[in-house]
Amino acid sequence: MYYIKHEGKEIAIEDTNTFTRCGQCGKEMAVDLGECVMDGALDLYGTTWYCDECSYERALKHPDEDWAQKVLAHYKGV
Ligand SMILES: [Zn+2]
Repeated sequence: MYYIKHEGKEIAIEDTNTFTRCGQCGKEMAVDLGECVMDGALDLYGTTWYCDECSYERALKHPDEDWAQKVLAHYKGV
């Protein structure tokens, strides 16, 4: 178990109490830190998450990128 300390209290880091904000609109989103592991590494300070709507907007602007095609396919429910 991992936890943070706040004012002497230990708060467990779990998939139900870990959040971030969208890097574009600032919307709060729950995150599973297990999904933040990329290529075997966890970069908590250099990772930016985007909400579904902003991911879709960004994908439309970069349709030739592999990640954008995955986002667009997911958005269409493929
Ligand atoms: Zn957003």
